[in-house]
Amino acid sequence: MPELPDVAVFARILEQHGLARPIAAVAVHDARILADITPEAFAAALEGDQLQQVRRHGKHLFAARARGGFLHFHFGMTGALEPFEASEPPYSRVVLHFPEPCHLAYVNVRMLGEVGLVADVAAFLEAHGIGPDALDPALTPAWFVAALGRSRRSIKAALMDQGLIAGLGNVYTDEVLFQAGLRPDVPVTALDRSWRERLFVTLRAVLAEAVRRGAASERFTERLPEDWLTRVRGRKDARCPRCGTTLATLRIGGRTSWYCPRCQQDPRQEKAAG
Ligand SMILES: [Zn+2]
Repeated sequence: MPELPDVAVFARILEQHGLARPIAAVAVHDARILADITPEAFAAALEGDQLQQVRRHGKHLFAARARGGFLHFHFGMTGALEPFEASEPPYSRVVLHFPEPCHLAYVNVRMLGEVGLVADVAAFLEAHGIGPDALDPALTPAWFVAALGRSRRSIKAALMDQGLIAGLGNVYTDEVLFQAGLRPDVPVTALDRSWRERLFVTLRAVLAEAVRRGAASERFTERLPEDWLTRVRGRKDARCPRCGTTLATLRIGGRTSWYCPRCQQDPRQEKAAG
């Protein structure tokens, strides 16, 4: 499922192939992916227009249009942006045709996700209850300590909450918790200030490193550092890249969480032990 680093990869693709060239034609192969607009109106709005600037917020991607407003992509569980020259990739739902040679396809196998036109990014984010982007430079550890609040839900569920902080999904919450040495099922209430600050610093470092390396949650994971969980999670009998212990799983919020039972702690047990 595309997360912040994946969408950063798509943002680069859009910047490389989609900017400052007139959109020659728009093909909508499946109108169900469009948000509140007919294929005819969507194509008419974009044909002859130009995309000028790309902006990513959490898992959402926006491109400012010369005519005003923004083109918006959300990638759901299986969406991606793929450049192509000759033949469209499989599962292309919306295709932007540019003057030769390179075109852009929004592909999506499972059809969860959305493509549409948005008048104003800030208003869109507010209407959809989307919190600040996880890499927003204005965020501070003190903000994060307070934002986590006194919720009794697990830290894994809190980090996946896009209203709290936008960009993390199932894979990168596992990576952040692995790098921070914290079990995914620990309730937020059990985390003191120093744990919260450590989580925030780790979260920023993990996302920034993945973006810097051009890695994503399922694509290009071989570009990630050797000792990262994301390189092995999900595989049968996967072992911890740090200590070699067989990884364990938990179901949280309907998703499978992978963790190392040896490297990741539960602060409540630490306290009980001494
Ligand atoms: Zn381990």
